[in-house]
Amino acid sequence: MLSVETYPTLAQAAAHVGATSQFLAGGTLLMRAVNYGDQRFDKILRVTQPDARIQQEGARIRIGAGATMCDVLSARDLDFLHPVARQIGGPAIRNMATVGGNLFAPHPYGDLATALLALDAEVIWADGRSETIETFFAGRANARGLVQAVTIARPNTGEFRWSKVSRVKPKGISVMAIAAWLPGVARPSNTRLAFGAMGPTPLRAKVAEAALNNASLDEAGIAPALVVCTQDLQPQDDPLATAWYRREVAPVHLKRLLLNGGR
Ligand SMILES: Cc1cc2nc3c(=O)[nH]c(=O)nc-3n(C[C@H](O)[C@H](O)[C@H](O)COP(=O)(O)OP(=O)(O)OC[C@H]3O[C@@H](n4cnc5c(N)ncnc54)[C@H](O)[C@@H]3O)c2cc1C
Repeated sequence: MLSVETYPTLAQAAAHVGATSQFLAGGTLLMRAVNYGDQRFDKILRVTQPDARIQQEGARIRIGAGATMCDVLSARDLDFLHPVARQIGGPAIRNMATVGGNLFAPHPYGDLATALLALDAEVIWADGRSETIETFFAGRANARGLVQAVTIARPNTGEFRWSKVSRVKPKGISVMAIAAWLPGVARPSNTRLAFGAMGPTPLRAKVAEAALNNASLDEAGIAPALVVCTQDLQPQDDPLATAWYRREVAPVHLKRLLLNGGR
């Protein structure tokens, strides 16, 4: 028997999270699970006032977990994320799918989450705790509680790059997604490189990041990073592609991203 509990705010709903509850955000994945009779949960929590605020807070931009992909696309402050949000599902999905839901979306979903990982997002829970997005992903499988918001720093123009590889253009599900933050661009330092659909959660390619630091973004400069780019990744077989294929093509797509923005 499935019960639905409605609370005004996320903080109130968070107090009622249990081992067999799920939170209804946009419902693009959760309602599919309900329709297929998923037995892993028996309680759905929802709120009447979702936190969809997107606002500048000091040096960072705060994005409420309830913001939809359409909200992201309407936020001028988030123009660097527009290419990411625009490639998530079709119009009906973007209208409902939330940033918070994307953080929890299983492989091969999580395109925006991949971009947020490259951008070193901070995840803020409804109880006020915060943690880096990398720690969040490491503990996601056992996470309890509700996410209130994420915060990110705005990259300088040209520093953030995004590429989504899919079989059906423009809105197919990811064979892989690559997000790169290249501070300094021409000779980047503190590079952050994240891959989506290359593991159970979005993952950083840390060995490749190190190889890119202070390298020139040309064929010779990026060659060492291409050789090691799958070293930290854990691709798996799924109906879209095999793990072998994903490993083989990752350097090709990373090269395109680094040399000409993914084209
Ligand atoms: C046809 C189709 C196409 C899609 N295409 C893409 C795509 O191209 N790229 C992509 O990345 N995804 C895609 N998705 C997956 C999905 O739509 C998105 O990942 C979306 O962002 C999920 O958000 P939601 O608000 O709908 O989550 P929901 O379905 O409401 O919830 C999903 C999960 O997240 C949890 N959750 C949601 N919000 C919170 C919160 N604030 N705190 C804690 N837990 C929370 C829920 O408990 C649930 O387990 C697609 C889905 C469909 C059906």
